[in-house]
Amino acid sequence: MGERRRCPRCRRLFVADPRVGDRQRTCGREACRQQHKREYDRRWRRKHPDYFRGGYAQQKEIHGSRAQDQHRYRENHPDYAARHASYMRAWRQRRAERENAPVSYTSCDLRVTISKQSRSLAITQ
Ligand SMILES: [Zn+2]
Repeated sequence: MGERRRCPRCRRLFVADPRVGDRQRTCGREACRQQHKREYDRRWRRKHPDYFRGGYAQQKEIHGSRAQDQHRYRENHPDYAARHASYMRAWRQRRAERENAPVSYTSCDLRVTISKQSRSLAITQ
């Protein structure tokens, strides 16, 4: 049976899972584990500042940007491009209809335009 240790997060005593043993740092509660992981990751990133930096820049040089990739895909798949274009046309139309739809007289939403900015104001009383 493992010995009781104190969780550095919540200060509660706990017995480590025998499968984890000395490697277990926290009591195992969700909040303590999350906090421990956040701090551990923060320390790790500080120690390896370049690990998550520059990966995309390198890929871009080798394979091109994501925009170029998408452009190439659409050139090679004209059926997809046409389908997507017609979908987007319909989507924009639906959006415009929704935005220009008249407001019902009984609606509590006042569509007010204040200095070129559209706002939804609701009357609650
Ligand atoms: Zn804890």
